[in-house]
Amino acid sequence: MKKVLTFAATLNVILLLGAGFSAASADKLKVVSSFTVISDFAMNVGGDKISLTTLVGPDGDAHVYEPKPADAAAVAGADVVLVNGLHFEGFLPRLVEASATKAPIVELTKGVEPIKSAEEDHGHDAAGGVRHEEHGAYDPHAFQSISNAKIYVRNIVDAFCRADAANCDAYKSNADAYTKKLDATEAEVKAAIASIPEAKRLIITSHDAFGYFQHEYGLKFLAPEGISTDSEASAADIVALIKQVKEDKASAIFVENITNPRLIEQIAAETGLRVGGTLYSDALSKPDEGASTYIDMMHHNIETFKNAILGS
Ligand SMILES: [Zn+2]
Repeated sequence: MKKVLTFAATLNVILLLGAGFSAASADKLKVVSSFTVISDFAMNVGGDKISLTTLVGPDGDAHVYEPKPADAAAVAGADVVLVNGLHFEGFLPRLVEASATKAPIVELTKGVEPIKSAEEDHGHDAAGGVRHEEHGAYDPHAFQSISNAKIYVRNIVDAFCRADAANCDAYKSNADAYTKKLDATEAEVKAAIASIPEAKRLIITSHDAFGYFQHEYGLKFLAPEGISTDSEASAADIVALIKQVKEDKASAIFVENITNPRLIEQIAAETGLRVGGTLYSDALSKPDEGASTYIDMMHHNIETFKNAILGS
């Protein structure tokens, strides 16, 4: 409780300090996005009609993010706050409360068909402990399916139109153009996966971020960590995973941009798999690092899968 009060007091100071320079963007819709994937969608819909603040930046891990006073100030001053929902942003409830914002908090997974965490979905033996589930019943990484990305975009259009009716037509036409690009990208993803033989489609990543990708496109993922990164895999989890990798013949193993590569390197060493590169899972890259937009992230990931599994 003491921590919350301190945080709120700091926030008041920040808000007072910030009051003087809010006029510059007064004519733009003030949007706060919880992480980079949503920010990219928001910019594609909002363009120059919005001013955007991103809470968890490039290569950041939203599961374990610790908000800063500036984040609370941004949320307090927002017209619209865009979030993933499904408990992806563990920091969010406390931040929203501390900010005392009046802005709508829009969960972009609304309307997505949520899938259970991978453990339940695929019937892994709970006692085997390859995955463990301590979080909500549902996997929050819905954005890894491009069909779902289109739902996120529609929800952003609805939120922007409610908050800024004067620019609704622009938001809609921007979203239509972007959705066509998403459709083209999805066709490329499906073609890429189709080029990988069925027997080579089992791969290893750090945490269960690709459940929706698996569900939609057919690659099969195993991970030592569950659907969040906030607890470390146990020794038993790792032993069980290594056993399964050997039995089921995984064809490749990857590190993720948001997590420490040490555990994956250890599993690679013990299984003889070569680390096939870095996947972008829960965050986009910094500019000029090849995955700074959602569509570039999808291209990067499918190329990384193909290069590691099929060779070059
Ligand atoms: Zn994640």
